[in-house]
Amino acid sequence: MKYMRYVITGASRGIGFEFVHQLLERGDIVDAGVRSEEGLRRLEPLRRASRGRLRLHTLDVAEERSVRGFASKVLEEPVDVLINNAGVPGLWCTLADVDYVDMLRTFAVNALGPLRVTSALLPGLLRGGPRKVAHVTSRMGSLSSNHEGGAYAYRMSKVALNMGVRNLSNDLRGHGILSVLLHPGWVKTDMGGPDAPLPPRESVRGMLNIIDGLRAEHSGRFFDYQGEEVPW
Ligand code: NDP
Repeated sequence: MKYMRYVITGASRGIGFEFVHQLLERGDIVDAGVRSEEGLRRLEPLRRASRGRLRLHTLDVAEERSVRGFASKVLEEPVDVLINNAGVPGLWCTLADVDYVDMLRTFAVNALGPLRVTSALLPGLLRGGPRKVAHVTSRMGSLSSNHEGGAYAYRMSKVALNMGVRNLSNDLRGHGILSVLLHPGWVKTDMGGPDAPLPPRESVRGMLNIIDGLRAEHSGRFFDYQGEEVPW
């Protein structure tokens, strides 16, 4: 079996951390983007145990300079699969208390971040094997599933991400790069909260199954962690 090289953003905790864990467990090589010193410290034991298969890099997906610095290190080797996972919940506002500064910040991370990172790593993907890019989005960015309102920043940023990924899949099809949107389920993490029913392990196992099985006909589509198509 050929092990592959994965790049993942937002690896310090939650779903991203679990991706790193499971990829290392099955023998793959991981370059992990981590925003803070605290996050780097949290991943250090995994790095030490990985025998060189986990490389840690600082990365803030909302900062152009940080993304460029990250890319310059990651691009030393080909990239087989990129997982754009980093995200923020934004302030949970109603119409009465929308915070426009927070909204722009949420867009910078959730919508623009994945585009920045994908674009910066394109040369590595073009040198890589299966050329797959998975984007962790949310069902909260599904227009037809929204019957509740609220959460303006988060919902709108994920809708923008979804359109960006549909665009990417069109623009990159000619290069053989597959792009897919994944809803991880409602997962027990800092973002998902303690009442979430799904452990990160199960969510990530499901998403890795989908990424492993990704074919050209899936590119530009939106699936949940169980492989069910999510309506736009
Ligand atoms: P967490 O809040 O637990 O973790 C978020 C991760 O993203 C952290 O590693 C965080 O780093 C990182 N991050 C945040 N901002 C940036 C940034 N600017 N640059 C780089 N990294 C950043 O969230 P989850 O693990 O639950 O969420 C992961 C993804 O799954 C997100 O995209 C989220 O929208 C999506 N999702 C989650 C759901 C859930 O139920 N949990 C449901 C639907 C979607 P740091 O530690 O430095 O803050």
